[in-house]
Amino acid sequence: MDDSGIPVNGTLIWYYTICHRQVWLMAHHLTPDQQDEKVVLGRFIHENSYKRDRHELLIGNIKIDLVRGTGGKTLVGEIKKSSRSEQSARLQLKYYLYVLRKYGADINGVLFFPEEKRKEEIVLDEGSVKEVETAIAGVKRIIALPVPDPPVKVHWCHSCAYAEFCWA
Ligand code: SF4
Repeated sequence: MDDSGIPVNGTLIWYYTICHRQVWLMAHHLTPDQQDEKVVLGRFIHENSYKRDRHELLIGNIKIDLVRGTGGKTLVGEIKKSSRSEQSARLQLKYYLYVLRKYGADINGVLFFPEEKRKEEIVLDEGSVKEVETAIAGVKRIIALPVPDPPVKVHWCHSCAYAEFCWA
């Protein structure tokens, strides 16, 4: 949490690599249209994939999609609509592993891309810890700004649920 009282969470870490303006808007509860078709599709895939394994885990202000035991190992998983933003997905899962480590659970993670039938194991190594700490500091800096950064056209704008708000 920063001076604004707004806690950092996995969603904000995810958007940190996408668009800083979006981080500010989400942190300040200016949420996008929940009926936007991209938001609805993402929610459908999220809610209907890996239903058998799904055991959401709530720790502090993070919510992990599933916890799976494989070969005596426990893994936490995060389900994503596509690998188009896999850098963001990796960072978000590393952030979850980082938080879990703070709670004494040193475990690995798996990213699931159900539409692509692909998964990727994520390990929290030293470099990842630095990466996560930089992102946390960055998110806190953005949240503390009095107003969001002005919109800047990025690759993701065309599929962003805030597009009308930013560019209409
Ligand atoms: S439309 Fe573009 S500038 Fe606006 S919040 Fe989305 S990604 Fe950021």
